[in-house]
Amino acid sequence: MTIPSLEDLNALGRVQQPTYGDPAAVASAVARLRNSPPLVFAGECDDLTAKLAAVTRGEAFLLQGGDCAETFAGVTADNVKNKLRVLLQMAVVLTYAASVPVVKVGRLAGQYAKPRSSDTETRNGVTLPAYRGDSVNGFDFTAEARRHDPQRLLDTYNNSAATLNLVRAFTTGGYADLREVHSWNTDFVQDTVAGQKYEKLATEIQRALTFMEAIGADPDEFHRVDFYSSHEALLLDYEHAMTRIDSRTNLPYDVSAHMVWIGERTRQINGAHVELLSKIQNPLGVKLGPTTTADDALALAEKLNPENIPGRLTFITRFGAGKIREGLQPVLEKVAASGIAANWICDPMHGNTFEASSGYKTRRFEDVMEEVQGFFDVHRAVGTWPGGLHVELTGDDVTECIGGGELIDEADLANRYESVCDPRLSRVQSLEMAFLVADMLRK
Ligand code: PEP
Ligand code: MN
Repeated sequence: MTIPSLEDLNALGRVQQPTYGDPAAVASAVARLRNSPPLVFAGECDDLTAKLAAVTRGEAFLLQGGDCAETFAGVTADNVKNKLRVLLQMAVVLTYAASVPVVKVGRLAGQYAKPRSSDTETRNGVTLPAYRGDSVNGFDFTAEARRHDPQRLLDTYNNSAATLNLVRAFTTGGYADLREVHSWNTDFVQDTVAGQKYEKLATEIQRALTFMEAIGADPDEFHRVDFYSSHEALLLDYEHAMTRIDSRTNLPYDVSAHMVWIGERTRQINGAHVELLSKIQNPLGVKLGPTTTADDALALAEKLNPENIPGRLTFITRFGAGKIREGLQPVLEKVAASGIAANWICDPMHGNTFEASSGYKTRRFEDVMEEVQGFFDVHRAVGTWPGGLHVELTGDDVTECIGGGELIDEADLANRYESVCDPRLSRVQSLEMAFLVADMLRK
């Protein structure tokens, strides 16, 4: 397998790419990245593919979640721990309440680049380049911050490495031990309905663990979790520089994350993103929005997974609550009938975004859950496996999505709106979602 050169990729069209002023600075950043150690090992990517193959067989469920856009300033121990904690709590709820193994993938340690629908942003009559994520430019609304800076490619690598190091320490060094199941439910979440439901479940798990210990069973799985990283593979310079030939297999892997996905705006079948990702061995995701036809999905599967390897390809559908039932069913029927091995997971976020009257971008928790319900219903009708969830969430008590048990309304958005891009589910809303989805899985 040969990797196309960066020049070849650029020749396919630079969709959603930065416009840098100084080509020499870009070349130097890319050259330094090429010499940087891998962030993940190829063998770990293969392990994830094997776990995702269990999803393809309908024997496991994928939970993929994290910020819409990570920020460099957000790389702190507390922030990473809180995100991990909510994902661990959700995974425990799904595993215990629905008796399904959960494959855990963070939308983190590299999720710093954003596609935008407009190249510019105008505020009070001033127009500047749009914020494209910390990988490209700064969030502050100044000409200096919004300049596309190739040094940020190296900052992306370093912040991803710091995050992943922390994630590895937390997931293998005791924090993710199942005996900690109660301690993940600390502070404000305890007093909510979802928190109390969780407390009950944690007590049951604790009793089961005590029993297991008493009979002498104490498997390694109780003490650590397998947790994987993922992000949208958007910046060609970065992803290409991080693509390396694995010494074991002589095959290319993108060693910037275990799993990478192609966004809705860059999934052109003859485009650079599909071309590059078709050459790497990592498990891949592709977002499918409401205009997707069955033939689009078939063409993507043919190009990205020509050998039809189970676990290699995950379709992440994001139709919107009002479109999921009618839109997904014909796509699913035709792809399933063609014998394509692909996972189907639901991103109930990106088809349900709207602007509140106050100007904040938000989503209704009820729309999000309605899309998940539609996703499950369509899969049940077609006879396919609703394989997982792709969610934008945070471990903090933010007010970015309205609704849910805490009845966040439009007026609350200003209280704690911290996302630099799309609105995320708060920790409580995330836990509520896990309980609702566990019910859907059980049925
Ligand atoms: C995202 O996941 O943040 C995103 C931009 O999604 P999509 O490509 O589905 O629009
Ligand atoms: Mn988003």
